[in-house]
Amino acid sequence: MDRFQTRRSNLRKLLKKAGVEAMLVSNYTNVTYLTGFTGDDSYLLITPKKEICISDSRYTTQLEQECPGLDVHIRANTTPILDATVEVFRAAKVTSLAIEGDAMTIGAYENLTEKSPSTTLEISSGLIEQLRTIKDKFEIDEIRLAARQAERAFTVLRASLRPEMTEKEAADLLEHQMRLFGAKCAAFPSIVGVGPNAALPHYRPGQAKIGDDDFVLIDWGATARHYRSDLTRVLVTGKMSPKLERVYGVVLTAQQQAIAAIRPGITGREVDQVARGIIADAGFGKQFGHGLGHGVGLDIHESPRLNATNDRPLEVGMVITVEPGIYFPGWGGVRIEDDVLVTKTGHEVLTSLPKQLGDMICL
Ligand code: ZN
Ligand code: ZN
Repeated sequence: MDRFQTRRSNLRKLLKKAGVEAMLVSNYTNVTYLTGFTGDDSYLLITPKKEICISDSRYTTQLEQECPGLDVHIRANTTPILDATVEVFRAAKVTSLAIEGDAMTIGAYENLTEKSPSTTLEISSGLIEQLRTIKDKFEIDEIRLAARQAERAFTVLRASLRPEMTEKEAADLLEHQMRLFGAKCAAFPSIVGVGPNAALPHYRPGQAKIGDDDFVLIDWGATARHYRSDLTRVLVTGKMSPKLERVYGVVLTAQQQAIAAIRPGITGREVDQVARGIIADAGFGKQFGHGLGHGVGLDIHESPRLNATNDRPLEVGMVITVEPGIYFPGWGGVRIEDDVLVTKTGHEVLTSLPKQLGDMICL
């Protein structure tokens, strides 16, 4: 069995447990996960014995190349994808069908219901996403590669930083370098925030200059082929204020202690609490408004979450970010983020850029 067959067989076990005969996969990322096919506009029907990809003629060759042996139904360009899908599951004599509630529009759902009165549709949520939380060796290797590409690019950016460089120029350089180091693209639009702009966790880089303040927050990652990495570092580009030193120290301790706590069996909430407790004890509880981390893989944000509501235990093979932050509007913020693999004996940090305060001084 290749890795895609293994994934489909794991999904079949979940479907059996849920008492559903078949599943229509309409989230393109999930289709990629289950087949290796990287195009879009295509669905996958999984029945107890068969799997059929419903696609169109633009993808005939690509499907042959990326998933040899997979049954494919190429619809005519006059047949809408939902009509083709109904034809396929009628021919497969499917009577109960799980659909992805998180990926299908209400319009598509109503359309399917009307066109297939003899099939019971079951709205499912998070089934494949649950499988995706546990990464196999292939996936972990690609996340490692994405981490290396991001780190090499950051090293180049760091050496190239100048006071007159704008945030936008820095972000563009970083993304270009990631591609030069082999990445398909950035994992998400890179964040480069100087001074007060570092207080906005999802800031978009603008015309502020690196030299406009004493520090810059950089949050970036690479997509290797399909899998992503996600890091954050703060570089000190001016004078080290006592406030920056204090805040940085608390965030670093919170991050290191939370990483140290990661092992199979601990819940996302418990890991989040380790970092949150340290930040609260230091008097910055209100300045840490987001969750501690998230799964990373085919998507930049995926399950599992490290936050106050996730009571599921971590398992071997999960890859999660650990990214505590402290933010003051008008002053800026500090966040430190690394990617961590849960292993049998505890954890392995997949990212390796230095992060002691002394290592962050540049310019
Ligand atoms: Zn990030
Ligand atoms: Zn992140």
